[in-house]
Amino acid sequence: MNGIVFDIKRYAVHDGPGIRTTIFMKGCPLRCLWCHNPESFSPKIEEFNQSNRLAEKLVEEKVNIGKEYSVRQLIKEIEKDQLFFDESGGGVTFSGGEPMLQIDFLDAMLKECRSMDLHTVVDTSGFAPKKHFERISNDVNLFLFDLKHMDDVEHQKLTGVSNKQILENLKFLIENGKNLIIRFPMIPGFNDSKTNIMKMVFFLTDLTSLSEIHILPYHRIGRDKYDRFNKENSMPDIPSLNEEDTFWAKELFEEAGFKINIGG
Ligand code: SF4
Repeated sequence: MNGIVFDIKRYAVHDGPGIRTTIFMKGCPLRCLWCHNPESFSPKIEEFNQSNRLAEKLVEEKVNIGKEYSVRQLIKEIEKDQLFFDESGGGVTFSGGEPMLQIDFLDAMLKECRSMDLHTVVDTSGFAPKKHFERISNDVNLFLFDLKHMDDVEHQKLTGVSNKQILENLKFLIENGKNLIIRFPMIPGFNDSKTNIMKMVFFLTDLTSLSEIHILPYHRIGRDKYDRFNKENSMPDIPSLNEEDTFWAKELFEEAGFKINIGG
């Protein structure tokens, strides 16, 4: 069985504990306005034109976004970084796109990693059938789980999908004692109202075993990718958030007893 991967990032330090190799899997059912990886949207391998400067000349060439890997081939790529994992307490992170979209391949990879005693993280939007989470959750050491908006209508406007399944999956993971960190992409004017943050606080406080939340301040990185990959960009050109801009939200979460990290 093969999977489609659009990038492999080595020496990643923001995608879970230690030094990690992050596997970006192609395909995502969401369309978050602020997405930095629009090349991940389609689950298929795509071909694009790219301009490169060669000896003072601009040369157009075709590049493929996405590459097919078997489980064995991808494990071989991951094994190259074993030394860094051992020394830092790191491992492998499956991200995307939405890695749950390739559930059979993800499941096979997680099982292989487990048999090799490799620490695994799944970075997910949470938008997938609950049975997918039931299927993989025993083979995942840590979930990085996005929470974008508590209001369903607003969630649909911002991401193109309802938050109902996402909240249900989040409850399932926490109630079953799975190791999980919430990631809140804080987007000015879109989901950073005090009302939304207080709704998050109340929802998460009810799920008693959860303790850690990462606030990801909005940044403009990746905007040029929309032109490069011929994708429509509906996000207005607003300035990035500084770390200090998120302190008031950090305080609200901290007052409710959560451990907060800014920046992932
Ligand atoms: S879930 Fe992630 S990859 Fe998918 S559209 Fe949203 S930000 Fe982009």
